[in-house]
Amino acid sequence: MKPSCFIVPPSLLEALQAHESGRVRGPVGRTLDEMHRLEHHRPARNGTPVAHEHRLVYDCEHETYLPGTLRRREAQPPCDDADVNRAYEAAGITYDFYRTVFGRDSLDGHGKHLISSVHYGVEFDNAHWDGAQIVYGDGDGIMFRSFTLFLDVIAHELTHGVIFNETRLGYEGEAGALNESLADVFGSLVKQWAHGETVDKADWLIGKGILRPPLRAKALRSLAAPGSVFKDKRFGLEDTQPSHMRDLVTDEDQDPVHANSGIPNHAFYLFAKALGGHAWETAGRIWYDTMCTGLSEDCSFASFAAQTLLTAEQHGTKTFDALAHAWRKVGVLQD
Ligand SMILES: [Zn+2]
Repeated sequence: MKPSCFIVPPSLLEALQAHESGRVRGPVGRTLDEMHRLEHHRPARNGTPVAHEHRLVYDCEHETYLPGTLRRREAQPPCDDADVNRAYEAAGITYDFYRTVFGRDSLDGHGKHLISSVHYGVEFDNAHWDGAQIVYGDGDGIMFRSFTLFLDVIAHELTHGVIFNETRLGYEGEAGALNESLADVFGSLVKQWAHGETVDKADWLIGKGILRPPLRAKALRSLAAPGSVFKDKRFGLEDTQPSHMRDLVTDEDQDPVHANSGIPNHAFYLFAKALGGHAWETAGRIWYDTMCTGLSEDCSFASFAAQTLLTAEQHGTKTFDALAHAWRKVGVLQD
């Protein structure tokens, strides 16, 4: 299956289609149409050359042709477009995180170019990893802010490139939810690392403030408290992420891939909190090493958990026990 991720799940946008204002409904409807088109679009750009840290930021100029016009390449000074500069900086921070913390040279480990396109379409309410690059919308300015403002969102999307290179995880069932969860975990870790935050200082949110005040929403997702970040009855909007296996979402209409990622997300959070300090050091290292064991296309939560425990063995009994406890707390391991 083509690796493809939108940071805002279709279910959230579909709920907004009932909004009273055409200023909201218009961009949301166009975004959903455009998402469908993007999902069936095959990136034409083959094999990017090896060049170590190398960022390329393009401007779609509100059209929908990819990648658009090149606005800033590696080592060039900032240009006069804030979205271009933010996409450039965030790609650089994500690159530095993987290089410094895990000794990894870009998404494929071999210096793959980091390609971004900003100002995609008109008021496009999403950000997207298409298997070759990131595509950013500006948001409608009413419900959604510009997607280049959020480092964890950008690191989430780029991490899909790492996941694609290291695993065979698909985008369905528990494997799909693991795919989403790994992108959230490393998205959050990049933000924590960039700000030097300990587990107690971190907000553990993805996209804090991305949904604007007309919506009663704190963020897109929370690793600390899945299912708690938005609830707005006016639009039938509710964060349906479970934090325990007993609440696993199976109804296809409820977008199980984006919902069930809450369970492994929460296990990671509980584990990192139990260890204390910087989450990227031990907990992040165990998640990274587990990801690099080559997870199968249909990897279940239970087999992922078993692999994390195997990886954790070399980190001592205390770490192993904290991890086993976290997996039991979310119901993936039985007592
Ligand atoms: Zn994703």
